[in-house]
Amino acid sequence: MKREETQALIEEVMDVLSDENGFLGIREEEERKVVCASAKEILKTTDKIIKSYIRVSRGKNGIVRIPAYRVQHNNISGFYKGGIRFNENVNEAEVENLAILMTIKNALHQLPFGGAKGGVHVNPKEFSSHELNLIAKKYVQRFKPDIGPNHDIPAPDLGTNEQVIDWMVGEYKTIHPGESYLGSFTGKSVENGGAKGRRESTGKGTYLSYRWLLNDWFKELADKEEVERTDQWRTLEYLYEEHQEKGHLNVAVQGFGNVGSVAAREAFEDKELKHHIVAVSDRDVTLYNPNGLNVDILDGFGFSHGRLPQSKKELNELEMEAEILEASDVLTVSSDVLILAAVEDQIHKENMKAIPAHILVEGANAPLSQEADRFFEETGKIVIPDILVNAGGVIVSYLEWKQSKVTEHFSESEILDDMGAQMTKTFKRVYDTYFYSSNETMRFGCFYLALERLTSLLYRHGKLF
Ligand code: NAD
Repeated sequence: MKREETQALIEEVMDVLSDENGFLGIREEEERKVVCASAKEILKTTDKIIKSYIRVSRGKNGIVRIPAYRVQHNNISGFYKGGIRFNENVNEAEVENLAILMTIKNALHQLPFGGAKGGVHVNPKEFSSHELNLIAKKYVQRFKPDIGPNHDIPAPDLGTNEQVIDWMVGEYKTIHPGESYLGSFTGKSVENGGAKGRRESTGKGTYLSYRWLLNDWFKELADKEEVERTDQWRTLEYLYEEHQEKGHLNVAVQGFGNVGSVAAREAFEDKELKHHIVAVSDRDVTLYNPNGLNVDILDGFGFSHGRLPQSKKELNELEMEAEILEASDVLTVSSDVLILAAVEDQIHKENMKAIPAHILVEGANAPLSQEADRFFEETGKIVIPDILVNAGGVIVSYLEWKQSKVTEHFSESEILDDMGAQMTKTFKRVYDTYFYSSNETMRFGCFYLALERLTSLLYRHGKLF
């Protein structure tokens, strides 16, 4: 979903809320409409967009000036919060869209944070570690008035990791001597005050969103009738029966980084809901084996090479059987479940009819266009949307930020159990609404719950007069 599509969905949902008699306790229709129109105006626009250029000397190749952004969408729920990505496709519209989605995601999961996002227009694979260190430090220098533990708290995202964040924290500490700095960023290394389990959190939460739907929520309600979403209900019945008959379901995973590799591992290791990981991809290749790939081996290779094996020679060295296909083929190979964990705009009008999976799980942000989302809805497929699925990282970030305030360390199991419990509460609210009382997409349902909360906060804070 692009920025304009996200803004259009905000408008659509706000119009529905404004028609609801009694919303915000306002009985007078005219008054409610004015209040909701004001909330719509605030939430579809952005508080602040900051753009800067980072200057890097590339030795013999001279100086480059790299565009960098921090976008703060809204902070009615709490301090601005959102990752920083290093990617060659970063642009203002993309970063703004991701900042809006952060506001919605944090509100949906009832976290005390608003929404922000950062981005630097670089392909990190083309820069040395020394150059990336310089870019990280300069990012903090450029945006220093706008970030901080009680204002805007960045984290890692696509193309960044705990090392980049540790560099940024180091620079923040240098710029602000004597001030507390541990809460300025989340996603730090554990040695540097990070939360145990942060790296795995988004991938684990992504897998949990699908597993909990099929294996817990559906199982418990399997005998119930009268659901609103009958086609999607049949999809769950079909997958449940397939699993019983075949003994496993087939999963394809696009993107084998932080989110995708962990989600693939969770599916691979699940002893109750069993899976064959038939395909995984990265920016260069898809590896495909209808009998299943060994995620342990791929993880080990990814750890040392930062990518998937790309040649028969590399596969032979790993004693692994797989066809090497084009990167985009992961979307169209036969699978029951497709986990999207790479980048935006992967499924749209041109390829949506070729997607065989029955459930699509958006670990990545905005991988589907609005048109594709509605198409899948009409064809009985289930799309579990990004703002519901990939909140594990920000929930654990919240625990990390809380931990930095009390200088106390939570154990990995305390953190991941807390995250799972928080996410499950939100899954239940969303799945109950979607299957039992809605005729809209699951994304619409998530936006509805989030915007209801945001509008209510704006109203209570007296911002809608
Ligand atoms: P990452 O950089 O660790 O991994 C990204 C993976 O996607 C890599 O395997 C890369 O090769 C692949 N990829 C990159 N460009 C691609 C392209 N054009 N086509 C196909 N594959 C491509 O990133 P990550 O942290 O795993 O993030 C993945 C997605 O999840 C992003 O959309 C990010 O915004 C979202 N997300 C991440 C977190 C987090 O905690 N890391 C939290 C919420 C959402």
